[in-house]
Amino acid sequence: MVNRKRIEPSLGRGAGHSDPRGRARLLDVLGLSTHPEDFTYGRDPRFGVLARAKIPDRWIPTTCGYCSVGCGMLLGVRGNSVVSVRGDPDHPVNEGKLCPKGLAEHVAISAPGRALYPARKSLSGFRRISWDEALELFLTQVKAIQDRQGKESFAVLSTGQLVTEEFYTLGKLVQLGFQTPHYDGNTTLCMASAVAGYKRSFGSDGPPGNYEDIERADVVMLIGANIADNHPILAYRLFKNLDRPDRARVIVVDPRVTKTALLADHFLALRPRTDVYLLNGLAHLLIRQGWVKEDYVRRHTRGYDELRRHIEHYPLQHVARVTRLPESLIFETARAIGTARSAFFAWTMGVNHSTQGTETVNAIINLALLTGNVGVPGGSPFSITGQCNAMGSRETSFTSSLPGYRKFERVEDRRDLAQLWSLPESSIPRQRGLAYPDIIQGVVDGRIRGLWIIGTNPFVSYPDQNRLRKALRGLEFLAVQDGYHPTPTSEAAHLVLPAAIWGEKEGTYTNSERRVSKVNAAVRPPGEARPDFEIFLDLARRLGAGDTLFPGWQMPRDAFDEWRRVSRGRLCDYSGITYEKLEHGTLQWPAPEADPMNGDRLYTAGRFETEDGKASLFSVRSQLPPEEPDGDYPYLLNTGRIVEHWHTRTKTGKVPILEQAAPEAWIEINPRDAERLRVGDQDRVSVRSRRGSIDHIRVRVTSTVGPGQVFIPFHFEEANANNLTIDASDPISREPNFKQCAVRVERIGPE
Ligand code: SF4
Repeated sequence: MVNRKRIEPSLGRGAGHSDPRGRARLLDVLGLSTHPEDFTYGRDPRFGVLARAKIPDRWIPTTCGYCSVGCGMLLGVRGNSVVSVRGDPDHPVNEGKLCPKGLAEHVAISAPGRALYPARKSLSGFRRISWDEALELFLTQVKAIQDRQGKESFAVLSTGQLVTEEFYTLGKLVQLGFQTPHYDGNTTLCMASAVAGYKRSFGSDGPPGNYEDIERADVVMLIGANIADNHPILAYRLFKNLDRPDRARVIVVDPRVTKTALLADHFLALRPRTDVYLLNGLAHLLIRQGWVKEDYVRRHTRGYDELRRHIEHYPLQHVARVTRLPESLIFETARAIGTARSAFFAWTMGVNHSTQGTETVNAIINLALLTGNVGVPGGSPFSITGQCNAMGSRETSFTSSLPGYRKFERVEDRRDLAQLWSLPESSIPRQRGLAYPDIIQGVVDGRIRGLWIIGTNPFVSYPDQNRLRKALRGLEFLAVQDGYHPTPTSEAAHLVLPAAIWGEKEGTYTNSERRVSKVNAAVRPPGEARPDFEIFLDLARRLGAGDTLFPGWQMPRDAFDEWRRVSRGRLCDYSGITYEKLEHGTLQWPAPEADPMNGDRLYTAGRFETEDGKASLFSVRSQLPPEEPDGDYPYLLNTGRIVEHWHTRTKTGKVPILEQAAPEAWIEINPRDAERLRVGDQDRVSVRSRRGSIDHIRVRVTSTVGPGQVFIPFHFEEANANNLTIDASDPISREPNFKQCAVRVERIGPE
């Protein structure tokens, strides 16, 4: 509820905007509505009988703006309001289904707290200013900082929620217009390790499989992936498999008994952070039992002999002891994988949110390579991405790669881009700039003096909040561009730029299975909010870079058309995808112009994006987490998500049905620990780490967490798990370790 209480009517849309106050009061006091539309039905030409209040003038097709599953939906629009939402029955991802967040997503558009006008912070608070003033102020401040301390003293942090056209535009604007390499997205907080793992194993980013594989696989192994809560429509796709007479064996690896674990045939509740032991132990069994596709491995991989020697250190008994799993369960898991016709290995934050995330991804990919499960029906190593367009960001945005998965360090790739853009080769950066955690460290060190944050909320989502807040408040200039204001982050800004959100702008998203879907504007943005694309182009023109970088561009379609040319011939080839085709369906890349339907799987011929065409098997050694429980901080904290909320609740916290279902954070404590702490269900406790604390959080006593472990969902600013988490990152991907740190729990007593 934190954002509601801070709404300033002069800058944000006030509570009750779309609800007559008298009626709202009657509802509040008596629980009664007297509005006849709430009780009458009518006939919608497309969906039949609906509540009259939900029957629109027209249905606008679009794609869900929350997670990377990429569900198709129809927005029911009346006038300039979205009155209803339905799953698109013709969309191949979700076949008309939506999860609770998707079903209520339209409510976030007209919710209170939207950013309506550009605003500048003054001594008396935020003051409304014009767009002209705002953008001139932005450029004056950035120029002053860069003139004084160099181009690299300005950095940018964006999101995974812009449309692809905006990512592409922003990447060019930042790297070539502002000429700073220090540009990254909050995507580094969720799937940078998957990206780095793919690059190391296959020579390129890009998930090889697709959702159809979930339905076709003989074994589905989910590692640190609670799809029932976090990607519910993928759970629906799994159920389709489980309805088959010859259904898949489901293996779930997770230290916590999640909803997904309840679906498992084999549930491996391993000791936290022993996943590399388990994966190496499974590789050991596959090789020793003769369950390896030797021919595939010899022809398409390198590193096999070294891996064989390496996994000798991971015999079953040792792995069972370290992971605290029964030997028989590990053996049966290896047998299931090794004897299956096809096995699908999916993972998400339980793997990525670790200081050893990238190498853990490589150890998962080892299993897929050893068993020949890459690029075949039902078989794939598959990173389930987080945000709705994290994939679009990965492909286009000029952060950890040059656009089109080109490499900063390859001269041919830089030359290629320079020619495509008619720019001198010297203008293309030779190495990536600072990643997200290193930008924060740069702010701490004083190397970064100006920061532009777009569509993300680090004042809730970044680990070790005390350190972060102190650092960002010391900036000379902080601009925040967002659809909502105030947010915990925008409150700290010197300048707020109001942006249109999902439902108000056009473009494309790419989901976890490389499927490109259209995103359409259903309504106009409120107040003076503008699509991010327009803001970027306006800044470029004022910077004097408009004609060079974006010649003749007016619409997102102009960016998409250039991106089609830039991606042509690359692994992520969009050249065969057009807006016209997307109006009638979706396409997966690679979609070359000559064969746009080509893109269902990658690496089908066993040839990878490496110099010799072979994939790499990695010999991974397990490392300790950055912090372990001890006498002072005896519990291991695990953090994660819940089905009702999205990230930092800037949207879902304003949707009553979701907020009422999950209005506050809680801590899960094992019954044995609860007894020792003398706390019961619904009691309140304080939780402390070496970095910060949460006071007064509600207790759930439950065996879903093991003894010595506790769990807190990370969505809630008012009980922020990131007050506790440790600012330690994977050395390869730079993804933070959100999953393990040491805490103590202090009893407060019953409420
Ligand atoms: S599963 Fe993801 S994409 Fe689908 S409706 Fe839910 S939040 Fe949206």
